[in-house]
Amino acid sequence: MSGKRIPLVAGNWKMYKTIAEARQLVPDLVRGLANVEEVEKVICPPFTALMAVKALLEGTDIGLGAQNMYWESEGAFTGEISSKMVAELCRYVILGHSERRTYFGETDETVNRKVRAALEVGLIPIVCIGETLAENEAGKTQAFITRQVQVGLSGIQLQQTVNGGIPLVIAYEPVWAIGTGKAATGEFANQVVRDLIRPTLSTLFGEEVAHSVRVLYGGSVKAGNAAEFFNQSDIDGALVGGASLKAEEFIGIVKAAVESV
Ligand code: PEP
Repeated sequence: MSGKRIPLVAGNWKMYKTIAEARQLVPDLVRGLANVEEVEKVICPPFTALMAVKALLEGTDIGLGAQNMYWESEGAFTGEISSKMVAELCRYVILGHSERRTYFGETDETVNRKVRAALEVGLIPIVCIGETLAENEAGKTQAFITRQVQVGLSGIQLQQTVNGGIPLVIAYEPVWAIGTGKAATGEFANQVVRDLIRPTLSTLFGEEVAHSVRVLYGGSVKAGNAAEFFNQSDIDGALVGGASLKAEEFIGIVKAAVESV
């Protein structure tokens, strides 16, 4: 089995921060995260702020991600941003976030098309999965999560890169925990990752890859509760929404991840 997974903390700014506001936040992040090398950090601003944020991150080790993309590389698709365009600026792209599934009709099938397109242009997809409260309460978490992984990742090849990483990240984000202030418990999230997500990855890609893929937890993570997730055996970091909009909170979450290394 290959070595330890490097924790990743990614900030999803959602539809917040104009360019001017991003220019205020990013220097604080850069200062607060200087010399924090044990954990990979990524921020995912809205498309309009990507260029400005990229310039501010120049010379730092904070990575840049987008929050969505279309699967075609170009064409008559008014209003869309292609994989090729995102890849010009970013290393990561969040795909299949529950807000996109809920408000913009994304399905496991369309997420799969996007995952394939992202990998083709060398982007690292952060693929979001997670059950709703109704599914959770009806005892359907297992079936739901398994399907999301199987369909979302169908038809792709995953291999270790030269430095031992896998160019794909999963974010387990129970929908009932996103933006609600009601995080899952670390124990519950870890159980889903260990007993459902990694075994499904193993049937698709084999044991080695299943062990090496980084799986993040997302859903109301804050500096105050982050350690509960990072201290779990199978959780490799966090996808952070609301708390990533405040420098102090995001830096606190990254520092909690450092403590867990
Ligand atoms: C998210 O947007 O992916 C998220 C987890 O949001 P929050 O941290 O605000 O719950």
